[in-house]
Amino acid sequence: MALVLDIPFARLANRGNEIGKRCMKIGASGQVCGRETEGEGELCAVHGRWSDVEKQTGFPFPDDAMAVQEILARTTALVAMNIIFPEKAQVVIELCRLMMRNLRRM
Ligand SMILES: [Zn+2]
Repeated sequence: MALVLDIPFARLANRGNEIGKRCMKIGASGQVCGRETEGEGELCAVHGRWSDVEKQTGFPFPDDAMAVQEILARTTALVAMNIIFPEKAQVVIELCRLMMRNLRRM
């Protein structure tokens, strides 16, 4: 008597579609995001929400230490060029300190 194996290939193929498209945003450290994209867009929810901030400020999404470093470097340049007051830079520095603390907990 022969043994019949029924392997559900169709379900495996559909599972691939459920996973969906991946965000290809490259972070400050060169790592690809890889989160699932939101809706019909090319970016994940996090990078989609941050894209307007990045266009206006040049600040990358702070998802790693290199991104936080870049935010601090850009802030330093803005102070040096008298585009922002040092008081505003101090707020950015404090927020970056908080972000780094959060990143270490992730
Ligand atoms: Zn992303």
